[in-house]
Amino acid sequence: MNCGLTFEEAIKFHGHLGPWLLIGYRAGVIAKNRLKPNDIHDLRCIVKIPYKIPYSCSIDGIQASTCCTLGKGNIIVENSEDFEFIFINIASKESLKLKLRKNVLDKLLNIKSINEALSYIMGLGDWDLFESS
Ligand SMILES: [Zn+2]
Repeated sequence: MNCGLTFEEAIKFHGHLGPWLLIGYRAGVIAKNRLKPNDIHDLRCIVKIPYKIPYSCSIDGIQASTCCTLGKGNIIVENSEDFEFIFINIASKESLKLKLRKNVLDKLLNIKSINEALSYIMGLGDWDLFESS
């Protein structure tokens, strides 16, 4: 299934480029590659983040990369102090939990410049960015 926007399209959809958009987008790409949904309704996502900007920008990244959308009701957001993205393929019953690594979060909270935060995230491999369970 080829569902989802390119990252350039995701930036247009969201309106600006930021580190949290990229984090959500990358989580979605990992989930899609791992869980291999066959249909646009197969994948569900539960986003657990503090429900405020900039963290909530990650929601748009996930919507853009996975086609889990508010309109289809297959993404839900739980206001939380966690930084976790839980994906479920309801057809295969497989799931994947991606948790932003604590050291990455701590570093991001201390970076003041958006460009610096972006290049930091871009320089991290998937499993340096997230831990999975
Ligand atoms: Zn944003």
